[in-house]
Amino acid sequence: MLFHGSLGELQKHLKQLPGIGAKTAQRLALHLVASERELALGLADSLRLAVADYHACPRCLMLTDAPMCAFCADENRDDTRLCVVESTLDVYLLEQTGEYHGRYFVLGGLLSPLDGVGPDEIHLPELLELLRSRQVEEVILALNPSTEGESTIDYLGSLLAELPPTVTRLSTGIPFGGDIGYTSQVTLSNALLRRFSIE
Ligand SMILES: [Zn+2]
Repeated sequence: MLFHGSLGELQKHLKQLPGIGAKTAQRLALHLVASERELALGLADSLRLAVADYHACPRCLMLTDAPMCAFCADENRDDTRLCVVESTLDVYLLEQTGEYHGRYFVLGGLLSPLDGVGPDEIHLPELLELLRSRQVEEVILALNPSTEGESTIDYLGSLLAELPPTVTRLSTGIPFGGDIGYTSQVTLSNALLRRFSIE
């Protein structure tokens, strides 16, 4: 059942969030407006501010509130290595390992033909452009070892085969179906250190 008026609109918006079904959206909408009015207004304010402040870094496409993200702006990082990740969150996870000092590139998704996510829906054109304009020696595919991650790794492997950089992927320390977000820092460090060439 849908609420009417602005409460219905709120329910509709909440339902579009990942992992939120119709019932949860209804419960949340009611909870926020009926019993958590102050929280609801704070939430609305911080959403508006965060959306206004944050945008994709023009180079690596990670979310940043600066003209260029800290990793692209840092002159001391290794320009010859480019780590390709799914999302901004993965950048922070890899940074926490302390084992990587190269640059990043955020794909913004993984290939998933069944869900209608093809090469044009993720940032592949931007990645190719970046690789053509920079002297990158190694592209590290740090993607989740899921069905979507594997198809993306396969696709990128053949797409980049003609280009100069060596293409590597994280070692199999992360179990298939795993998520690098839920992997311990030690496992992620090892997966990074024992990365191997996919060619
Ligand atoms: Zn950047």
